[in-house]
Amino acid sequence: MKPSTRRKAATGLFLGAFAMGTAMLAVAAVLPMKEPRLTEEQGREQLAGFAKTWHTRAEWEARAKNIRAGILRGANLTPLPARCELKPIIWGRQVCKGYTIENVAFESLPGFFVTGNLYRPVSGKGPMPGILCPHGHGDRPRVGAATQTRCAVLARMGAVVFAYDMVGKCDSTQTTHDDPNVLTFQLWNSIRAVDFLMSLPEVDGKRLGCTGESGGGTQTFMLGAVDDRLAVSVPVVMVSAHFFGGCKCESGLPIHHSDQHDTDNVELAAMFAPKPELVISDGKDWTKNVPQVEFPYIQSVYQVYDASDRVENRHLANEGHDYGPSKRAAMYRFMAKRLGLNLEAVTTAAGAIDESDTTVDDKSLQVFTAEHPRPAYALKDGAAIAGALEAAKSKAL
Ligand SMILES: [Zn+2]
Repeated sequence: MKPSTRRKAATGLFLGAFAMGTAMLAVAAVLPMKEPRLTEEQGREQLAGFAKTWHTRAEWEARAKNIRAGILRGANLTPLPARCELKPIIWGRQVCKGYTIENVAFESLPGFFVTGNLYRPVSGKGPMPGILCPHGHGDRPRVGAATQTRCAVLARMGAVVFAYDMVGKCDSTQTTHDDPNVLTFQLWNSIRAVDFLMSLPEVDGKRLGCTGESGGGTQTFMLGAVDDRLAVSVPVVMVSAHFFGGCKCESGLPIHHSDQHDTDNVELAAMFAPKPELVISDGKDWTKNVPQVEFPYIQSVYQVYDASDRVENRHLANEGHDYGPSKRAAMYRFMAKRLGLNLEAVTTAAGAIDESDTTVDDKSLQVFTAEHPRPAYALKDGAAIAGALEAAKSKAL
């Protein structure tokens, strides 16, 4: 699609949302949708256009390389910043049933903190797989029950799991989520979160996974598209040919289009090929067409690597926009198969996944408290963080 046509698609926003029904509107009410979506037909046509630009593995790889450069350029991460010391702060260990939780902060840039919780198996020395769990939009989603449960179950299965805040959420208050650089900061934080997992002595750097829902799904496939170190990816309720997130952290910078590249989130997910990927979709949001539209395109990329068996779609036609139990169960099974985790440890005699006793008081998961304040040298606002980013980029030159 030509850029002029894409701009015209902006007018389809409200009609498109209306056509998708009341369930869709309920989602729209809680998500910050600022960017127009394409109509479903426009998304399909755009993807068909992309398919015509490559036919062989070599042609796809040339395209993917150009897209990757375009994402990083659009995200203002060219060159990648120099990597500062992480200086991790880890405290507040809680011993739960089969796993432990700690409160964590580390620096992605000097004076800029990534905040989150580290879930580890209660026993075992490793090497263990490491899994990143970015989350979707909401008030305090990192410490919400759905995030706690999936991290706890994965830890019981034998993984070291890091759930980390979106910029401007929960403990990440050095700037707001409305910061013009939020996409840049968040993508850089994800890259540094991989560094953090790899810095833990018990983590096997060759068995790293990432899974998140909605805005966390965006973070999952965006990280996978620009960082080779992930071995497994499970983006949940987000891969769509006609909607790109709408928040500044997902599409607030020109990562999909420039005069040198043109892509969509389906291709970002496809760039994970030929490594194992599970795309989870549902029937009530912008992922409702995944089995007919998005997944076949991703499969066509895996096919040029002769790796069709490594990509799967779990489509829950009667479900909506969440990371609920059946979506989590599909993810646990895929992670177990692909990262060598112990699924039996969380499986009941009847064959169901046991998610009992997997939440704690969310206040206990707070990283910065009166007793454990953010270090005094922390950067004070978004402008200071942007300055640190530019300084780290010039250091990298
Ligand atoms: Zn956002």
